[in-house]
Amino acid sequence: MSKFNTAASETGDPLLFTPGPLTTSASVKQAMLHDYGSRDNYFIDLNAKVLKRLVAIVGGEASHVAVPLQGSGTFVVEAMMGCFVPPKGKVLLCVNGAYGKRIAKICDYYGRSYDVQESAEDQPIDTAVLEKTLAADEEITHVAVVHTETTSGIENPLVEIASIVEEHGRGLLIDSMSAFGAMPVDAKEIRFDALCASSNKCLEGAPGMGFCIARQEAIEKTEGNSPSLSLDLYDQWRAMERNKQWRFTPPTHVLLAFDQALNEFEEEGGVAGRGKRYQENCKTLVDGMRALGFQTLLPDSLQAPNIVTFHMPSNPLFDFEVFYEKLRLLGYVIYPGKLTVADSFRMGCIGRLDQTHMRDAVAAVAHVLGELGMQGRAE
Ligand SMILES: *Cc1c(COP(=O)(O)O)cnc(C)c1O
Repeated sequence: MSKFNTAASETGDPLLFTPGPLTTSASVKQAMLHDYGSRDNYFIDLNAKVLKRLVAIVGGEASHVAVPLQGSGTFVVEAMMGCFVPPKGKVLLCVNGAYGKRIAKICDYYGRSYDVQESAEDQPIDTAVLEKTLAADEEITHVAVVHTETTSGIENPLVEIASIVEEHGRGLLIDSMSAFGAMPVDAKEIRFDALCASSNKCLEGAPGMGFCIARQEAIEKTEGNSPSLSLDLYDQWRAMERNKQWRFTPPTHVLLAFDQALNEFEEEGGVAGRGKRYQENCKTLVDGMRALGFQTLLPDSLQAPNIVTFHMPSNPLFDFEVFYEKLRLLGYVIYPGKLTVADSFRMGCIGRLDQTHMRDAVAAVAHVLGELGMQGRAE
């Protein structure tokens, strides 16, 4: 067996080429080595500062508020749906992957009425169909869309969707979990009622909290909508306005890490800088994998720079479980596919990773293909 150097993050951990949790910097992890009480002034100020910076990312200082929530990303998506779609409302769900389907499941749990406009996992949401549906159905009060569907890595046409939804006077709810911080969203150009994301995707903080950025006029109207106490974003917002505190135990360490992650985000040049690194990561990965004979699910024009779906090689010598495990032992954690349209696996390019990591990952893939007896080729 040939020698191959194993990869590691700054803190010696395997590199995460996944949709989350993601690799974080040593300094982000370092920031968590303190205990603060929820009423500690230092923590209260830090919390307010983090929220202010999140609103600034979309340029919503004059019009929008940020409301944080404990939990993984799904918690805040669920909170957004329960809070912004009133019990008598109806939401049109634009679905082209597992995260869109999850929103339908949330609506089932909450008894919210909805219709689904579905596209295949390798197709963006069809804006002409959206236009027609909204024109035909006046009962629809809201439209929900996933900004970049992490199932495949596809980018949905958010600007066009937002303009159609605005034209028809409905409210837009955005799951921007895997795009926020790396792909621009300008609250002055795109009208949305609420958008949610989390601490650990493109913002590279520790996992453990989500947040919702809401148009203040829209969130003001959501009192009493939420079927859940702990996920009531209206109540969380009002309470924090009153006393600057979280209603229930805040994830203090996650906030300390998030503040440091936002420092690093700003140092990198904000959305433009972060987006550029991910674009380069994505291109390096795709070019390298194609050179080995892998094929991407998506054409480059639809590919968001966050996660890439590759078709499974058809060669019978290729066994994904073995491939996955061998890569993991070399320090590269990849992710199985979740697609119904194609047998596939995924490699993420977000988190604290750069082009060198991408090139090294491709070299590790070639090495493992060699070990599988495939002469380092994917065909
Ligand atoms: C990661 C992600 C979520 C949240 O997933 P969790 O596992 O709950 O953190 C939601 N939507 C999208 C599009 C995502 O990429």
